[in-house]
Amino acid sequence: MEKNAKVVIIGGGVVGCSILYHLSKFGLKDCILLERNELTSGSSWHAAGNVHVISSDPNISRMMAYTIGLYKEIEKESGHSVGFKPSGGFYLASNEV
Ligand SMILES: Cc1cc2nc3c(=O)[nH]c(=O)nc-3n(C[C@H](O)[C@H](O)[C@H](O)COP(=O)(O)OP(=O)(O)OC[C@H]3O[C@@H](n4cnc5c(N)ncnc54)[C@H](O)[C@@H]3O)c2cc1C
Repeated sequence: MEKNAKVVIIGGGVVGCSILYHLSKFGLKDCILLERNELTSGSSWHAAGNVHVISSDPNISRMMAYTIGLYKEIEKESGHSVGFKPSGGFYLASNEV
């Protein structure tokens, strides 16, 4: 195993994997990811895969929209399906008119 690296990411859930993916995309080569169990065996394994683009926080909405685009990009780059099926949805207003 490597003893030194410029960037060490601890945890191979969706967040750690995404950080590693983006760092390598931006050209960083000396990065390693440490996972104590199996990759994505934490919370990420349980996630239903819902991606909402409407949020009360505009930054979360932006990140979700980016994610949807990223899945398409990863499918194109890798030639593999990520299994994401955009099914649409709707929101009901809960405040009084
Ligand atoms: C039932 C359920 C359903 C969900 N559904 C959705 C959904 O539909 N949509 C959505 O957006 N989110 C959903 N979530 C939330 C989502 O799963 C989490 O927000 C996300 O997976 C968190 O990712 P993470 O990488 O931060 O953590 P994790 O996936 O938990 O990854 C952390 C990793 O770090 C490793 N680790 C911890 N400590 C160390 C250490 N010292 N050394 C090495 N490795 C270590 C763990 O083994 C683990 O693999 C859901 C969560 C649950 C539980």
